[in-house]
Amino acid sequence: MSFESLGLEPRLLSGVESMGYTQPTPIQRDAIPHILAGKDVVGVAQTGTGKTAAFTLPMLQRTPTRRGVRTLVVTPTRELALQIAEVTRDASRHTGHRSAVVFGGVGLGPQIDRLRRGVDVVIACPGRLLDLVSRRAIDLSNVETLVLDEADRMLDMGFWPDVRRILDLLPRNRQNLLFSATMSREVLKVVESTLHDPVYVEASPPTKPIERIKQSVYPVCRTQKTDLLVELLRDADHTRTLVFTRTKHRADRLSRQLTRKGVRSEAIHGDRSQGQRQRALEAFKAGRSSVLVATDVVARGIDIDEISHVVNYDMPNTTEDYVHRIGRTARAGADGNAISFMSAEELETLTAIERALGSTLACEDLAGFAYAERTVPDPERTAQPAGRGGHAGARSGGGGNGNGTGKRNGRRGGRGRTRR
Ligand code: AMP
Repeated sequence: MSFESLGLEPRLLSGVESMGYTQPTPIQRDAIPHILAGKDVVGVAQTGTGKTAAFTLPMLQRTPTRRGVRTLVVTPTRELALQIAEVTRDASRHTGHRSAVVFGGVGLGPQIDRLRRGVDVVIACPGRLLDLVSRRAIDLSNVETLVLDEADRMLDMGFWPDVRRILDLLPRNRQNLLFSATMSREVLKVVESTLHDPVYVEASPPTKPIERIKQSVYPVCRTQKTDLLVELLRDADHTRTLVFTRTKHRADRLSRQLTRKGVRSEAIHGDRSQGQRQRALEAFKAGRSSVLVATDVVARGIDIDEISHVVNYDMPNTTEDYVHRIGRTARAGADGNAISFMSAEELETLTAIERALGSTLACEDLAGFAYAERTVPDPERTAQPAGRGGHAGARSGGGGNGNGTGKRNGRRGGRGRTRR
């Protein structure tokens, strides 16, 4: 299957070629022909599936040039807006389309100037877009194609009232494309109220992680998570590690702790300015820092190839977040590793995620790290040479009874894995 056979024009195919894509991903294969045919489309797809190009390529083909803003993409975060803008720029290298990206947290002036010079496609976060509308810096009355990207996240983040206001500014007769990682009842309501007779395309079942990712769990005492991370980072395989924490505060604290221990790291989260986030991302991409600590919201838009490891320093609350997080590794055809630290308090969360995934994650441990500071070595196991764990289903060091002294599946850990 080639991009050509999907009905894309030569000028867009040249863009595709310069982006280095040779074959469409499943969501691109399924969505592009319908979008080109002018249908409303609902795409159930996570980041990492190629969904950005799945809507960007056909939407550009349908967007006339030099006739004002004809295509509007609304997306929840600045990072996603920048990622879409980059794909749009690359794809339109030979088409003459002009695009602008607008989001808050940076000065209005340059965005207003850009819009004044004339654009065909606008990629926007909702709040800043409404701000620009109220300043009469943008006219949305000629929009022919609307893309709502990461609709579930926009609902979660409370952007829906803003999005509704934006919808009221658009012509009623238009093409609507909605992409969402999950199809909750709320998203379905939006689909029913906004789209006309949509075609549904699905990248892959949203709760199934990519098969190329090696997933494992380290049961560990809550207070030893940072030391365990530092120990794991000594492994030369950890070339670029993205670490997730539950809160912004924990992200900052962990990044500081890592720096004190000699690990070059940066933290990004919603309280950081756009400039700080971009600098942190660039340092990570360029290899100046080997660890990026992030929270879930900002991580949605992170598009960095060659992340060797994703570490869940704190377990995510939902399976969707788990899948999103681990999907940051194993991108662009590479293999990847996802490691989850699980303290006794997080056992239930892990069990719920495993149930949703339909599989038990392999359990590993390092000597000296377990649920409780005092771990009893397993006499059957200590005689074995040090090596990777991987005894699926067993959680070493106890747990399950919430006080760090119990067992899961009747096994005890403390199995010595040493590393130089
Ligand atoms: P997305 O799901 O839009 O976040 O895309 C995830 C990653 O897949 C990005 O790094 C894209 O550059 C890459 N990608 C998208 N489409 C293709 C394709 N057809 N072939 C190879 N890589 C792709």
